Amino acid sequence: MNVLVTGGAGYVGSHAARCLERAGHEIWIYDNLSEGNRGAVRQQRLIVGDLMDRPKLVSVLRDHRVESVMHFAASAYVGVSVERPADYYQNNVVGTLSLMEAMRETGVNRMVFSSTCATYGIPEIVPITENEKQQPINPYGFTKLVIERALSDYAAAYGWSYAALRYFNASGAAAEGDLGEDHDPETHLIPIVLQTALGQREAVLVFGDDYPTPDGTCIRDYIHVEDLAAAHISALNRLGPGVQFQLNLGTGAGFTVRQVIDACERVSGRKIPCRIAPRRAGDPPALVANAERARRELGWHPKYTTIESIVETAWRWHQSHPQGYAD
Ligand code: UDP
Repeated sequence: MNVLVTGGAGYVGSHAARCLERAGHEIWIYDNLSEGNRGAVRQQRLIVGDLMDRPKLVSVLRDHRVESVMHFAASAYVGVSVERPADYYQNNVVGTLSLMEAMRETGVNRMVFSSTCATYGIPEIVPITENEKQQPINPYGFTKLVIERALSDYAAAYGWSYAALRYFNASGAAAEGDLGEDHDPETHLIPIVLQTALGQREAVLVFGDDYPTPDGTCIRDYIHVEDLAAAHISALNRLGPGVQFQLNLGTGAGFTVRQVIDACERVSGRKIPCRIAPRRAGDPPALVANAERARRELGWHPKYTTIESIVETAWRWHQSHPQGYAD
């Protein structure tokens, strides 16, 4: 299939793009490189462009006879979204609607969409099923929810087929060691902890130790980026007339911030200094997936089932690429 991968130079997108190529799909990566890295993609496949450039999107979709879109391009920092909501609504909502209109103009009506567990807000029941109410508590989660809703409306009115994949915490790096997490600035827990292990940071700031969890720090479900990528390919293969679905992608196991730091100490064999800091705005106490539906509907089983195995791949990446793709 001919697939356009927006945000394909980003963290999850680059792993999915590689997985798509390995599965025999013809891909084009569309990325404005605001967050993405050239080093994460094959240059011949990269088109540098912005979601807001609808005429360019229209010609890309047309010229490459695109049949489906995997849409990763988005701003994805919970904390920043609270401080700069305008950027998030512009990029994630207005940008995506621009893409969707370009798709309509060219008759492309299939999308695999990167959604998030942040659309649930503070869930009533954990592990979270897809039936949990979606009541986001930060602008990032809202922007993703708006697009889930738009996709559902486009499906009803224009016959679109789509999958909204609600990721829990994407983490880890490619088994080959050549793709990994490289954000600027980095805000995600595992890279920050491992950069601290490498001596690039003084200490990990633990955002809050007074949450209603066993050790007071937030619980998250860390899912390996290659497992996420595999789920995208299965979801793409399922799309077709009348097919729409929403799936949680997580392992079903939750770890506190402290447990993640402990796992990083075990894997790296280094002592990692930490300091307790105030809570970060927009952080729910616990987010853990019930991912039964993905198992059932896609036959998807994460390969990385322990936090150590996930951290090991990330540690290899950070050791071999201490400056990320600049190395
Ligand atoms: N976190 C932390 N210190 C950091 C970065 C993150 O304590 O320097 C916590 C954060 O508050 C959250 C968890 O680690 O509870 C995972 O955060 P991350 O930013 O990696 O992912 P998110 O859950 O926001 O998508």
